[in-house]
Amino acid sequence: MRIAVIADVHANLEALQAVFERIRALNVDEIVSIGDMVGYNANPNECLDILLESNVSCVIGNHDAVAAGIEEPVLFNSLAREAVFWTREQLTEKSKEFLLKLPREKQIRDFLLFHGSIRDQDRYILSRDDVAWNFRLFAGPEQTAFIGFYGHTHIPAAWTEHQGVISATLQDEVALLSDRKYLINPGSVGQPRDGDPRAAFLIYDEQERLVVFYRVEYDISKCQDKILSAGLPMLLAERLAWGK
Ligand code: ZN
Repeated sequence: MRIAVIADVHANLEALQAVFERIRALNVDEIVSIGDMVGYNANPNECLDILLESNVSCVIGNHDAVAAGIEEPVLFNSLAREAVFWTREQLTEKSKEFLLKLPREKQIRDFLLFHGSIRDQDRYILSRDDVAWNFRLFAGPEQTAFIGFYGHTHIPAAWTEHQGVISATLQDEVALLSDRKYLINPGSVGQPRDGDPRAAFLIYDEQERLVVFYRVEYDISKCQDKILSAGLPMLLAERLAWGK
């Protein structure tokens, strides 16, 4: 099976459409989304419709949970809070129902999907300590997965652990070795923060044991116009061009 892994779509319709176009050309069997489908940008319902129609397996992100009314935005900065309250107002019943049913974690065969950290969707995996903590949670005989796919930071990353030693292995392609565990972030579709404004995703090929990272250009100015006409903060439009 070839699986496309997307994260942090954040209601960016133009980026999602560009990513899906590329995914369709890459011969993929399955698409999974690791949370934050909404928030920040201006097309939450349209993006959720595409994910629903395409049978994408999703887990919930912190923005999704607040937008659906499951949680309040206690850990959100003011920009994120303003956008998530706007999103709450926009969500159709169908969209809300979809978000309310999503699990926090999901294991498919030998990979695990979660948004922020294992057992904590709000916690970032940024430092080596965060990585070590997640590998600890990821160990143990009850864990049958060997890859954890996560998002939340909006920054592509690939970490591996072998006999207690952790290393970063981010290249365009990561060949997966046996007897290792991996924590891998595809980067963000709808609001990249690694300085590259192009939409990010990855393909995991189970037979080839290979992960390949991709970037796709999309119509940023169209998305920015929609953010501004929706009355969302200007900085949310500007940051898309910076990839920050
Ligand atoms: Zn996010």
